[in-house]
Amino acid sequence: MQTNVKPRHEILWLVVAALIPIILYLVFTLLEAQQMVKRQLTLTSSMLMSQAVNISDRARAMTEHLQNYQGRSCDEIRDNLQQTGSLDPYFRSIGVVQNNIVTCSSTFGARQASLESIIRRPLPVEESDRWSLSVPGTINASNRPAVLFLHQGEDGFASYALVDGQYLIDFMWAAGVRLGYDITMSFGDGFAIFSGVPASRRSGDEWGYSTLDSHSDRYKIMLSITSPRSELLQSWRQVLLSLLPMALILSLLFIMLTHYWFKRKSSFRDEIRRGIAHDEFSVNYQPIYNLKTQTFGGVEALMRWQRADGHWVRPDSFISAAESEGMIIPLTRHLLKLIVRDSSQWPLEPGFHLNINMAAEHLQHDDFLQDIRDFSAQLAHLQPIITLELTERSLIAEDHAVALKLAELRNEGFKIAIDDFGTGHCALSYLQTFPLDYLKIDRGFVNAIESVDGETPVLDTIIQLANKLKLKAVAEGVENAMQLHYLEKHGVSFIQGYYFARPMDAATLSAWLQQHSAPMTAPVGEPEHAG
Ligand code: C2E
Ligand code: CA
Ligand code: CA
Repeated sequence: MQTNVKPRHEILWLVVAALIPIILYLVFTLLEAQQMVKRQLTLTSSMLMSQAVNISDRARAMTEHLQNYQGRSCDEIRDNLQQTGSLDPYFRSIGVVQNNIVTCSSTFGARQASLESIIRRPLPVEESDRWSLSVPGTINASNRPAVLFLHQGEDGFASYALVDGQYLIDFMWAAGVRLGYDITMSFGDGFAIFSGVPASRRSGDEWGYSTLDSHSDRYKIMLSITSPRSELLQSWRQVLLSLLPMALILSLLFIMLTHYWFKRKSSFRDEIRRGIAHDEFSVNYQPIYNLKTQTFGGVEALMRWQRADGHWVRPDSFISAAESEGMIIPLTRHLLKLIVRDSSQWPLEPGFHLNINMAAEHLQHDDFLQDIRDFSAQLAHLQPIITLELTERSLIAEDHAVALKLAELRNEGFKIAIDDFGTGHCALSYLQTFPLDYLKIDRGFVNAIESVDGETPVLDTIIQLANKLKLKAVAEGVENAMQLHYLEKHGVSFIQGYYFARPMDAATLSAWLQQHSAPMTAPVGEPEHAG
């Protein structure tokens, strides 16, 4: 009934497996592209800034040098100014100033003009005696930006150097054109010298993706670089392409792993089905000793699986796999059939106890009651008392329906045992909700017994709890006389373990029970027939 649901759910998982690496790939590459854009912006910014600082250094050295010309006439220094000014291509003009009037310059000689008229704007109010200011144009080149560097000396004397903005624009252009950057640079709080896409050609928000602003520590230089969205997309495309093979391989790997996982799961289901069809499963029975009557009044049925190659599969491993792969119900039904088949060999007394392990999933199944009743009906001639061993895990979900089913079965004479008590890491509230008869003390607690007269606090508490709840305690995994005597002393009357008997197959059990039908106290210790 599960098989027609599986393929769709399998396909869904395969799609998810394929998509996970692809989604990770898209996110990772986008993040990487963003980082690339940032790194490129930072690199461009630091390169341009160092150029701007370099030019500033040279301008400052020049104005420093010109301070030596204080008190000299223009005739005296003009040739020198022209020569020095023309040697350095960065300078549009250099000169000296007295009370804000240029008294001698490399471009105009002795022709006097105010500094303000040369830069075509008022001079900034600066606290420092050295400052710089970027301007959109100067008197002799009104449309070409420039940067004025001024060094204020003593007695109204000052020297200046006017750097041509074209050099800065050229640098900015060379650094940014390939990436489509928009760059502005300003000195002092002056004009922003600009290079990039004219504002008129940019379209709204889409244009600017990321902006990096920086400034120099030594000069008042502000630099701002904006990269276009296309730069991010291009970087993304680049990373996408370079990592595509890896993403495809990963995606394929995930698909293959998922496929393999499903194949293994389904092949395990097939193996169990085949095992059932080929009669590879069998049942072993472990006698349970009643200290009060001194007889073996019951057995626990334990499943065994011997594969065609002779290999025995461990019960806890195939049982837990069957539980997780949805095969425990068919397997338990098969177990019940095998017990019915085995029972024909047993000369059992009426009232003999037959314990069967039931998985949680089965309890919740609609056919649970029917399965148990059918089984009981087939054994009716033997009149056994059938005990269902349930783990704590199957009772934690305070399932009202399950509690009702168990109550019904108890009314019909079935008994309920709680298996592996104390190992389920769960609240004990189910002890009040569910109708129970036996409490099976896990082997671990029996193992903890150190001497007959000593104390075993957890075990003692469990025994007391069983007494308080009026449940009969069954000790599992009893392997020696010391454990037996301790349990006897503490009032545990049902003993199961290698000390009395190992699990054995049906034929062996029948002979064994006949041998041990009289009350006995000595250990038997027969080997397990299979497993
Ligand atoms: P369990 O229900 O606690 O079964 C008792 C286990 O303890 C059995 O292991 C038994 O062979 C082992 N045992 C008994 N006396 C001693 C002893 O003195 N010393 C030691 N060391 N072990 C002892 P087994 O048969 O290997 O089964 C393991 C588990 O597999 C069972 O634990 C049970 O949870 C599960 N199982 C076995 N058969 C079935 C089955 O038919 N249905 C379900 N649902 N589970 C089963
Ligand atoms: Ca059990
Ligand atoms: Ca147990």
